[in-house]
Amino acid sequence: MDLPQVADEAIDALVEVLDLVRFGIATTRPELIHHSGLGRTVVVQRVGQLIESGLVTEGKHAPSTGGRPARVLRFQAEAGSILAVELGATSIAVGIANLSGALLASREEPCDIAAGPEVVLGRAEELLDELLAAGDAPGSPLWGLGIGLPGPVEYAYGRPIAPPIMPGWDGYPVRERLARRYDVPVWVDNDVNLMALGELRLGLARGEQDVVYIKIGTGIGAGLISGGRLHRGAQGAAGDVGHIAVVDDSSVICRCGNSGCLEAVAGGAALGRLATEAARDGRSPFLAKRLADSATDALEARDLGAAALHGDALAVEIFGRTGRHIGGTLATLVNFYNPSLVIIGGGVASVGDLLLASIRETVYRRSLPLATRDLRIARSALANRAGLHGAAFAVLDELFSRQRLPRWIGQGSPAHNPAIAGAAEFAAAARAPLASA
Ligand SMILES: [Zn+2]
Repeated sequence: MDLPQVADEAIDALVEVLDLVRFGIATTRPELIHHSGLGRTVVVQRVGQLIESGLVTEGKHAPSTGGRPARVLRFQAEAGSILAVELGATSIAVGIANLSGALLASREEPCDIAAGPEVVLGRAEELLDELLAAGDAPGSPLWGLGIGLPGPVEYAYGRPIAPPIMPGWDGYPVRERLARRYDVPVWVDNDVNLMALGELRLGLARGEQDVVYIKIGTGIGAGLISGGRLHRGAQGAAGDVGHIAVVDDSSVICRCGNSGCLEAVAGGAALGRLATEAARDGRSPFLAKRLADSATDALEARDLGAAALHGDALAVEIFGRTGRHIGGTLATLVNFYNPSLVIIGGGVASVGDLLLASIRETVYRRSLPLATRDLRIARSALANRAGLHGAAFAVLDELFSRQRLPRWIGQGSPAHNPAIAGAAEFAAAARAPLASA
């Protein structure tokens, strides 16, 4: 990159000052100097640039601590709005967020991802259009769109690659389609990565450096936070732990085509199947009655949760076994990765404490003492909102990054500039040298 080094340093300082203000860590110029270690002149110049761009405003004087009172700086979260979409295996959620990642409005409904991209994205667009028409973010122009998909996503290009449960989606140009429709930069990511990011920015993982987020839903996946940042890996596939082989049993065929995958023995779909089999075989009177009363001919993971709560011995045993499978994989991750926090999210995680207890017990038993000495294992605090918050922050973190902020701050807005998210630009930015210290 042939930009002079001074420009790189100015960009680094600009991003650092903006981050300190938007995350509420510093709210006056003296606090910015203290927290950033930057010189007074640099801070004054960068704050001036941020005020000029409309990202920061200056408010009243802060209470004096002796000396001249400092003016309070405020991040203009209403300067723009972000569309957030989370596609699950069986659901679709959309939301509109401000520039602080707070959700101003959201909608959710059942949807089968296997219906294909035309149907599913078409419905997502209808729901987004309804939200926009409802005017929940009045006066805030659209600045970007983030979307999570329940499968592997090649992050630089915004496309799903050979997703096991998404027929018709392989290579589909999700970014291009949504960028054309909304005329804003679009980022596409795996749904679990976005849940982890949501937890990092607004949930339990705030301020943590090394975190594993594991989603136990219809499928199973993990998102990794490393050094305080989402770790996507070389292509974006990091954390796809659902297809790690955990049992040597060729009769347990997974949706991916392999056998013995974690997801195939411990995911929500597997729990539903085990519950249905137990009901039919007469091994659980509770589940048999539940199946007879059901409008469908199959039970779900939540039926197993109800059975366990009722004290059904078979349900308790299934949760114990499932927890050991998930806990065993998590213990491997804990030994390999040494996180300070493991967050458990997803629909199945909410069906009962029994599963959580079994996972916890297995992780502590199977991990090295040093790795678990200060390890916390907790249930997600954001629950089913983690993915939408994460989709918003996928956009915000990119827009306010050192690679992208300089590309639009002069215009005052990244809107009408979908190329900001483009793969070519991404590759060029990735090749650019970091500012030398
Ligand atoms: Zn599999």
